Amino acid sequence: MKLSINSFHSDFKAFAEAHPEKIAIILEKDNSTYTYGQILDLVHRTISLLHRSGLQKGENILSLLPNSVEKTILFLSCCYAGYGFAPYMENAPRNEIESFIDLTKPKHVFTTDTVRGETSNLLENQYDFAPTQLRIDQSFSWLKKEEPISVETGCGRLFLLTSGSTGAPKAMSINSDVLWTSGQTFTKLYPSILNQETRFWNYLSMTYLGGLFNLCLIPLAAGGSFVLSDNFSPTLGYQFWKKVNEFQINSLWLVPSIARLLLKLSKRSNQQQNLAFAENVRGAFLGTAPIDLHTKKEFEEVFNLQLLENYGLSETTFLSAELLANDGTLRSPHSESQVGQVLPHIDLKLVTSNETDPEAPKEVWIKSPFLFEGYVGSDGETKLPLDDEGYFATGDLARIDNNSLVLDGRIRDVIKKGGYFIRLREVEALSEKHPQIEEAIAVKHDHEFYGEAYTLFLRADETTEENDLKTAFAEWLDNNLSHHKRPEEIFIVPDFPRTSSGKVRKHIMADFKGYFEKKSQLRNPPAMEVSKIVASIPQALSIKINQAVYNLQRQGGDVTTLSLGEAFFDIPQFDFSELNFEKGYHYSDSAGIPELREKIASFYQKEYKAPVFSDEIVVSAGSKPLTYMAMQAVLNPGDEVLIPEPAWLSYEEQVKLCQGTTRFISFDTPISDYHKHITDRTKLLILNNPNNPSGYLYSAEELGIIYEQCRSRGVYLMVDEAYSDFLLEGGQFNSIATVVPDKDGVIVVNSLSKNMGISGWRIGYAIASKPIRKSLLKLNQHLITCAPSILVQYVNHYFDRIIGCTLPQVRELMIKRQRVERMLSDLDLACLPGHGSFYFFISADAFEGDVYDLALYLLLEHHIALVPGVAYGASTSRYLRLSFGAEPDEKIFEALKTLKQALSLKGEDYSIFHEKLEQLLSE
Ligand code: PMP
Repeated sequence: MKLSINSFHSDFKAFAEAHPEKIAIILEKDNSTYTYGQILDLVHRTISLLHRSGLQKGENILSLLPNSVEKTILFLSCCYAGYGFAPYMENAPRNEIESFIDLTKPKHVFTTDTVRGETSNLLENQYDFAPTQLRIDQSFSWLKKEEPISVETGCGRLFLLTSGSTGAPKAMSINSDVLWTSGQTFTKLYPSILNQETRFWNYLSMTYLGGLFNLCLIPLAAGGSFVLSDNFSPTLGYQFWKKVNEFQINSLWLVPSIARLLLKLSKRSNQQQNLAFAENVRGAFLGTAPIDLHTKKEFEEVFNLQLLENYGLSETTFLSAELLANDGTLRSPHSESQVGQVLPHIDLKLVTSNETDPEAPKEVWIKSPFLFEGYVGSDGETKLPLDDEGYFATGDLARIDNNSLVLDGRIRDVIKKGGYFIRLREVEALSEKHPQIEEAIAVKHDHEFYGEAYTLFLRADETTEENDLKTAFAEWLDNNLSHHKRPEEIFIVPDFPRTSSGKVRKHIMADFKGYFEKKSQLRNPPAMEVSKIVASIPQALSIKINQAVYNLQRQGGDVTTLSLGEAFFDIPQFDFSELNFEKGYHYSDSAGIPELREKIASFYQKEYKAPVFSDEIVVSAGSKPLTYMAMQAVLNPGDEVLIPEPAWLSYEEQVKLCQGTTRFISFDTPISDYHKHITDRTKLLILNNPNNPSGYLYSAEELGIIYEQCRSRGVYLMVDEAYSDFLLEGGQFNSIATVVPDKDGVIVVNSLSKNMGISGWRIGYAIASKPIRKSLLKLNQHLITCAPSILVQYVNHYFDRIIGCTLPQVRELMIKRQRVERMLSDLDLACLPGHGSFYFFISADAFEGDVYDLALYLLLEHHIALVPGVAYGASTSRYLRLSFGAEPDEKIFEALKTLKQALSLKGEDYSIFHEKLEQLLSE
């Protein structure tokens, strides 16, 4: 069917001029609204800016922006004026951005003023762009000076990245007027849902069609509006219906993962509440990936909401959709894999892979007025692959049943074995129903006799014994899958190779086949066992929380990070060329080069008045290995180590690695009573001064009391002084080396990580008397050899200059400590006493539930990251650690206010946050 293509520019202009006051966009984060008239004005001003900056019609801009009104305006301006819009994720890794630039060859780049350093570096140094850095705060300050001049108009172009079946990236080029007309045509299919009253929620990424077409152009084509928010995250899922009602959203666009999450969450509410949630929603469209019939039906029942599935590719936009009859019911009831009726303007042919076999699956080929322009290759050429009759192959297999299109899978996922067709997805789905199978991947390969066959790779749940499972699974498959469909071989593997987005790389799996075949010839090899000691060690909780922070940020979340174990300083890059690279490439003195040890010794003498000498020092790759080596140096298996709480979390695990045991001293024990915890087996007591997490600073007198209790019972005292410079103005740091000048029975550990703000360089040191130092040296020689030679040279060469620049920043930070302390007292939040470090250990005792749950709630619901106190010992499980080194005052204050409010929460179900955390960490 022929259809004329409309112009976005004339349609949008006409509508906006006729309805200037009509709301088009509402911003979820602050409820601000943008009318059609305002958007038209912003578009005009953006175009005049682009025009003045020299951009010619047909040239492209790269957008590295999050979902925002600013990004929407930029996109619409390109569609309006005839520029190319090439969007990419702003926080994507450098190599991905690089290949997108190489394909789309933009003339200009838009980023945010918070873009990652490595991205700015790439844009400015490698490509010589002068990016426009937008502040995403709706001030549109970048347009202030732009008086709308008579603007250019034209037909724009959208570029999207597609991975292609070979994995080599290609960009797709789509004509924006075609997209606009496809959207208009779609709205006409559902006049009762898609009209000027329509309001959608745009929570899909505006880097793909979901966010740019389905949830931006389509609502605009209907003359309706959309609420714009961050990309969908599980956190939004929890507030989903609340937001739908608050913003009067009446049309939804779901994707299978969101529909499944909402269904899962619906179990937390009663059926009446679920029905009320969607009361004002007229309909929900569903697309982008296959969904099973059961989920679809259950969703409709639970929310009493009609789901309208559609099917298409980015290359084609919609090909089929579940249409409505005049009475509002579905033209054809839902059935498995049925994706609605082929749309009137689509000319579809089903092409068989085997003329003589009526059972052979058929591939969907289409002609459409809304086809994309083609794939842009690295040579800059756009190619549109069509057959002689002008049809485009979708790669999807389907049949027509009852006037509806029924999908059978992707073409590469069907094989023909000895005359039978096997749909690999069907085998995978079946295998995943086995209770111990987490994931199944069927990989096709050639077969001498059958022509084609496949191998089934399984990922089982971790508790299962591999050999037993393989036999049991093969038996189970015998009972559940017809004989001719069975795999050639079954392998149980620990995991699959994946792309960064988690998709399994099937072609690599095929390469592994030979390896697994050889392996299976080893008959029943015994299971490989890991060390019980290491297995008993948990992941560090603070690192787990920080990993969750990184993953949230990668999803575009704005996280208030109060969980980091370091503060960030501005440190200049001193000249590496002054160093001796020839030496730097090689091992160096295992104890650390004498010049650096001299500098450390005189620093201790001068700053802390401690008698420390270079021949008492061992330098290693950070202080962590040194605390561990110190334990190795003094402990025998079964020896006991005393650690006052709150205790930094690695000490306990390091003791375990030495086969020692730990006894914790409760945080409220007076220092003079420490000796009561000493037993015949106690060999070592560990202090952290100033303390992470409380900031407690020990006086010389207190250190003396502790030392005497230890020395009199033959117990070593190790003091970790990693935060020794983080003191309030006028504060005095007391090193144990001052209290015990001959270091008899004491070990000092310190590090440049925190004090100099160079944790990534891995340079720490220990100070000890002869016998202990000798043991530390042996351990260092066998475990580390030496700290990185070139970095040791660097810190030695620039020692005074680094300190000269970091110490004032340390002092600044400690003034901030006083400000944060005031915030805490203004909000009536109590903490353990402390005057050093950049941590506060805040009491959450007022909270009625488990404080770990509270920390997860704050992280996942409010994006505030704090470390739960249980990480620092059982007696401090009612506390939370706050690190104030990485966030500005305002954000800290806002977070503390939220914490204060959260303390009085009652009766919440927190189990969902545990699931969410695991889900987040597995992403
Ligand atoms: N000790 C304490 C108390 C710490 O908090 C840390 C880092 N979080 C370390 C030692 C480890 O520091 P390094 O980078 O020197 O290994």
